[in-house]
Amino acid sequence: MEEVFEDGKFSHSTQVGRLEQALADRTGARHVIGVNSGTDALVLLLKACGLRPGDRVLVPAYSFVATASAVVLAGGVPVFADIDPDTYALDAGRVPAAAADGARFVMPVHLFSRMADMASLTALARRHGLTLVEDSAEGIGMRQNGVHAGLHGRGGVLSFFPTKTLGALGDAGAVLTDDPEVAEAVSALRHHGRAGRTLAHFPGISTETGRPGHNSKMDDLQAAVLIAKLTVLDEEIVRRAEIAALYDRLLKDVPGVTRRPALTGASDEVFYVYLVETERRDALVAHLEREGIETETYYPVPLHLQPCFAGLGHRPGDFPVAEAAAARALALPLYPDLTDAQARRVCDAVRAFSTGRTPA
Ligand SMILES: *Cc1c(COP(=O)(O)O)cnc(C)c1O
Repeated sequence: MEEVFEDGKFSHSTQVGRLEQALADRTGARHVIGVNSGTDALVLLLKACGLRPGDRVLVPAYSFVATASAVVLAGGVPVFADIDPDTYALDAGRVPAAAADGARFVMPVHLFSRMADMASLTALARRHGLTLVEDSAEGIGMRQNGVHAGLHGRGGVLSFFPTKTLGALGDAGAVLTDDPEVAEAVSALRHHGRAGRTLAHFPGISTETGRPGHNSKMDDLQAAVLIAKLTVLDEEIVRRAEIAALYDRLLKDVPGVTRRPALTGASDEVFYVYLVETERRDALVAHLEREGIETETYYPVPLHLQPCFAGLGHRPGDFPVAEAAAARALALPLYPDLTDAQARRVCDAVRAFSTGRTPA
């Protein structure tokens, strides 16, 4: 951070370039483009991949709202499909052929601790001629068949919102891609449409504007923080997994509480969030709150029932798996500094509620 003050540019400068290189090394991406948020990363990625106004983009009905808003902000139309009850991700088997035929893009989301099944989604994309991009905002550290989240299609994103596995001290995000044309287009779009990489890489950055761009540049202070935090990311991911394993063990026989995405023992899990499903979700949330335990309900309203997408004409019952998840899911406390004793106290409180040893 001192170097940022010395440098004096504060935006889109040396630290951003350094972070991009460090993230490329960490993920295996050929190109990483730092931007100001995961949401803008999605908007710029879709535009850079050639999304034209009105293009339809298949997305899961259950995700953070930014997945579908980014499609609209890029000029597209989200087309929702239901999720797989095990992975909580877009399920290729639940995408109607007509919906796939009418779409130009498919954008699966990797939620909480597991990736979508990329083999079946890649096959779906091939079959219907769709461009595959990933909302891998939560996916740092997640790999499937050795390939990092975000690099299974034309590109993906990362969010560094403070709660994420790798969080900044404010908002930041990145686009990951192996495709040099996508990288070049995102680089321009984040900086008013001007070609070239960061100011540090290209002091003589072009002032010619190829097409109207955004201002989605990353702050150097955030990049400096992320470079430092990247050095402890692996340790933190290990600690998150330890806490998750403790939760798995202590909650295994608690009636009516099921871990989601499903317990697999898959070695590529990264616990951004530890999520459970339970029928009496809101009562459990209230009980834990009384015990001084903070939880989060990810995501209480499925995307097709969000008021901002009402124009698409969906109604309750359209995507039953997504709706059940939205009604039952809650996230237990999970962060690297959580102690085993604290995790045990959370589990004791959940067990007391579930076995009825406490007023509901
Ligand atoms: C966090 C998140 C985003 C948005 O990222 P921001 O950096 O908050 O804009 C998009 N999609 C998913 C799945 C996310 O979890």
